Amino acid sequence: MRRVDLHTHSTASDGTDAPAALARLAKDAGLEAFALTDHDTLAGIPDARAAADALGIELVPGVELGARIPEGELHILGYFLEPGNATFDAFLEELRKGRRDRAARTVTRLNDLGVAIDLADVEAEVSGDRSESLGRPHIASALVKGGHVASIKEAFDRYLKDGGPANVPRPMPSPVDAVRAIVKAGGVAVVAHPWTVPRDVFQDLLVRLRRVGLAGVEVVHSDQDADVREHVARLAADMGLVQSGGSDYHGTRKPAIRLGTGRNGNVSVPYEVLEELRGLRKVPV
Ligand code: AMP
Ligand code: ZN
Ligand code: FE
Ligand code: FE
Repeated sequence: MRRVDLHTHSTASDGTDAPAALARLAKDAGLEAFALTDHDTLAGIPDARAAADALGIELVPGVELGARIPEGELHILGYFLEPGNATFDAFLEELRKGRRDRAARTVTRLNDLGVAIDLADVEAEVSGDRSESLGRPHIASALVKGGHVASIKEAFDRYLKDGGPANVPRPMPSPVDAVRAIVKAGGVAVVAHPWTVPRDVFQDLLVRLRRVGLAGVEVVHSDQDADVREHVARLAADMGLVQSGGSDYHGTRKPAIRLGTGRNGNVSVPYEVLEELRGLRKVPV
């Protein structure tokens, strides 16, 4: 069976493999295609594209947006999005600016809590290019390197998790605005890992997002169990949404998740899913 992975992260956000290295890994994993879906940036796409072309594997250019909901956040994947669309690029840059501001405020909060860490330690975790996306996992890595915590998990548990003592919220679009931005840029929008959202609000969210052009939802995801998958698959079938999937590979920041196959082989996505999504592409206006 020809397989794809429609959810991966590179060093352009909080993954640990460079975009070109990711293409090599995807090829070695025997995938037919992979989507690069870094948080709030398309910066990795050109390098991933060049490597994918050279290796003979298909790259789906994409992004993952965080959106604000009362219960926390909802993540939305956008596919078939290239850098170079001025409106969409500016939309993403604004989100990344919010991320940089958030990192600075988080460092201040950590200092107030007695943790000796500099913003420079956090910024050293990315290239420093404004096109790259600075996230909480980078702060977590800096905390590990500084010897303040033993693991990324401990960094989140003790400081950075939602509601944690050093957690600083950042501005995020509403889910409706996130889907609209993707669709307006000529992309195809898919809700990511719905297991992170309470079940009772999820159906209502899907109904509202479908009205503004949502194409699909992740049924298969490394951290999504069989029970949730079954529930989401039924909703998707009822609503005529594409049943999508991907590993959410992050390299060594989430070492148990493998590209293409997820956690202990719990991810397998046929090529036909990509074809379905491609079929829902609209020409940008
Ligand atoms: P950000 O988008 O910068 O707020 O960072 C969110 C990312 O941090 C998510 O995509 C996860 O990869 C990671 N993350 C969130 N919560 C945790 C946690 N409790 N433990 C480890 N990683 C987490
Ligand atoms: Zn991530
Ligand atoms: Fe996500
Ligand atoms: Fe992700």
